Amino acid sequence: MNKGALLVIGDVATDVVARYSTPLAHGTDTAARIRLLPGGAGANVACWAAQRGCHDVRLLARVGRADLRWHGDQLRASEVRPLLVPDDTAATATVIALVDSTAERTFLTDSGAAPRLSPDDWTPSLLDGVAHLHLSGYPLFAASGRRLARLALTAAHARGTTVSVDPASTGFLQVLGVNTLFSILDGVDVLVPNAHEARLLTGRSDPGDAAVALSRRFPLTVVTLGAQGVLVAESGSLTGSVPAPSVDAVDSTGAGDAFTGAFLAARLAGADPLTASTAGCTAGALAVTRVGGRPALPGQPGPMPPHAG
Ligand code: ADP
Repeated sequence: MNKGALLVIGDVATDVVARYSTPLAHGTDTAARIRLLPGGAGANVACWAAQRGCHDVRLLARVGRADLRWHGDQLRASEVRPLLVPDDTAATATVIALVDSTAERTFLTDSGAAPRLSPDDWTPSLLDGVAHLHLSGYPLFAASGRRLARLALTAAHARGTTVSVDPASTGFLQVLGVNTLFSILDGVDVLVPNAHEARLLTGRSDPGDAAVALSRRFPLTVVTLGAQGVLVAESGSLTGSVPAPSVDAVDSTGAGDAFTGAFLAARLAGADPLTASTAGCTAGALAVTRVGGRPALPGQPGPMPPHAG
């Protein structure tokens, strides 16, 4: 990757993060600590990349018009240039993240405006000055998002801009189908799946085997393994592994986004895949010690969208 800007195409979401420590009681109350936070996989990746030293990070995403300003302000505070398309029909994506005492999370996802990104939101000039394009998987789960992704991928390759993809979600992937995803992602340089996604994409239960298989299609594949760190495979060979630092995890939301943001920032600064993976693991470990998916903003009060009451 050459030095230059990072363009992320992805999703912005409002996250409702509920942490609870007793089993969920069906049909009645379970005590929880609940916070409202800015999130969305694409937005989180962009914020982590900026926090980890990428000096020019831009995010193309759709949000409901009602909280365009709040989400734009949150991104600017993270030094991400928001290229937000206001949607008059759908609200901003909202995710309810249920986080248990082991920091594992379950999402209830209302994708809202996020998958409504469409070719109308694209112009090739979005790639001006861009050295790398990152596609967050969520927009790929809608037909209009897939058309936009193909346009962006084709334009990126015509300019020699490298492209990475995070396949995002096993749940949505199962609905879309692996072959459909592969056909959209033809020509992608870097894939960053987690172990579940890698297994689903290849049918191989061993993450190393899955990484190797994926790297025949995506020349650099980094499979993230939660607290076990990552495996790196390049062009059909396993080329390394990086352990995760040992930390006390409180919320694993956004660990993969933190990894990817820091990994891409390091690659854009010239790091090789293993060095960049080490930077990614440091950020991923930091992310799980925090509630929510974004890096800390020094001195900022707890964020709360103005319309949330
Ligand atoms: P995703 O959030 O996409 O499911 P992972 O859970 O694999 O991704 O986490 C991404 C990366 O974040 C891991 O490869 C690791 O570096 C770091 N990470 C995740 N969970 C932990 C943990 N409990 N302790 C330390 N690092 C972690």
